[in-house]
Amino acid sequence: MNNTRTTYINCKIFTSDTELPLANAMTVENGRISWIGDASELAETAAPGNISEQPATAKTAQSETAAPGNIVDLGGHTVIPGLIDSHQHCLLMANLVKAIAALPPKIHDMDELAEAIREAEKNLEEGRWIEGWGYDEGKLKEKRKPNRYDLDRGSTETPVVIVRACQHIVSVNSKALEIAGITRDTPDPEGGVIGRDAKGEPDGILYENARNLVYKYMPKLTEEASADNLKVYGDVLASKGVTAISDLGELTGLKYGHIFEKAIDLGFKTKVGAYFIWDFIKDDPEFDPAILGTGHGPVCDSNAEIAPPQILYPGIKLIGDGSVSGHTAWLDRPYPGTDDCGLPTCSAKDIEDAKAFAKNHQCQLSVHCMGTAAIDRTIELLYKEKPWLQAPVPTFRTEHITMPSETAMERAAAAGIPFVTQPVFMFSEIESYLENLGHEWTKTCYPVRTWLDKGVRVAFSTDAPATAWAEPYDPFVNIQAAVTRRAWEGTDLGQNQKISVEEALRLYTAESGPMMGFRDIGILRKGFAADFVVLDEDILRVEEDKISQVKVLGTYINGEKVF
Ligand SMILES: [Zn+2]
Repeated sequence: MNNTRTTYINCKIFTSDTELPLANAMTVENGRISWIGDASELAETAAPGNISEQPATAKTAQSETAAPGNIVDLGGHTVIPGLIDSHQHCLLMANLVKAIAALPPKIHDMDELAEAIREAEKNLEEGRWIEGWGYDEGKLKEKRKPNRYDLDRGSTETPVVIVRACQHIVSVNSKALEIAGITRDTPDPEGGVIGRDAKGEPDGILYENARNLVYKYMPKLTEEASADNLKVYGDVLASKGVTAISDLGELTGLKYGHIFEKAIDLGFKTKVGAYFIWDFIKDDPEFDPAILGTGHGPVCDSNAEIAPPQILYPGIKLIGDGSVSGHTAWLDRPYPGTDDCGLPTCSAKDIEDAKAFAKNHQCQLSVHCMGTAAIDRTIELLYKEKPWLQAPVPTFRTEHITMPSETAMERAAAAGIPFVTQPVFMFSEIESYLENLGHEWTKTCYPVRTWLDKGVRVAFSTDAPATAWAEPYDPFVNIQAAVTRRAWEGTDLGQNQKISVEEALRLYTAESGPMMGFRDIGILRKGFAADFVVLDEDILRVEEDKISQVKVLGTYINGEKVF
């Protein structure tokens, strides 16, 4: 860690600190903020003339609070705390960053998809297949799934596999069909269907278990490759101003901590709060709960050489119901035009068991709940419990919260149970919300304004890659969605639920850090980690529908410039 003292001046700092919301100078020592405030309070050494674009080696004073040390002039730009994505699936996402994102705003039709395949083939590593993810025919101009002939226009030499957003359907090209030996004579496997054209030829669209006919020939992803992908993904996140992320559990279960360690060896800098899926660990005798724990608080002694933990394992996660886009979120009334209310995916006893485990091991419990019935049940089971974790880290957190009842909101506010939500869901998946709920119901979903007014703790996140957007981890798209309450194609998402940019930033920083077990990130205040972002525009002043175009000029983690 860099232990020189550096003072950043000539900037507008949005601190996310309610006690000192704005500042214009900040001193960083040992990776932490040692002073922040108004430049006029700085010692005389800060006079222009000592100022350099890059930190120069200068003598540093020992203990004066406002002695600046090296000076960095930020050219009048706006500074915000490093953005914290408190719910995503970062290993899944990392393994997709090199693949084709078959989604707007990158891909809108088959021509663009073919072009992306041709581009991908140019840079392909030896032996790899061309992979893509996220397509949804509702978002493609042709309004149909890509078939082998669409993909063959991109490549006939290299196998191509593009996974649909739902993960249950894939489109492959003729080369992939050939490698897998799929012909008109191949029977459908049990639990799967090979799509066929009018003449009975495989059309390249494989449903459910038919995917495995192709998957088994795809090159396996090694641990080294995963760690390398994580490093690349960390760089992408830094370019978007994201300095910390949460991992809400991977399908591969618990044995993945070492991938983070490997990635750190490769230069991965992002801070991570990673959760274990309850179903995977509850009966696993090899799982060691000693790994569970949350981080320490701010360190105000600027001489203290305390390396903050980069990876924390704050707790466990349970999945309470399905999703609105999948028609499986558990509602208290049927989806319009049906008698279907969705369904719970775990029992009340599962939640009780997980809660007892979390209490026993003094860790967090996170519960996914989208529909009203799922949210009501979860809050009912948690709200009377006395918290066992020290504030500001919440003992419980609930995920998504599409349509909470009045009672659930009031109980959550009183008990301090946070809602970790994703404004980008309705923004990017508007087609399925309109289809499954209709416009009036959609406008009442995720009522963030109401939550804040009622005093519910709220944190923002993206759930990447489970978000139908080409760069699902992009925080500026998410912030714009919350501030404008408009979908990507303009649909009104309920203007009475808009929040301000300042509020959105706080939910993405000060409120998001503690959600994932960190106590010293998300606020620019003395003692906190020096994780901050320099922007090309004043995000507090930019027109609200231009927020997604704000660019990052520099990203710092523990005072070190990482982008
Ligand atoms: Zn998720």
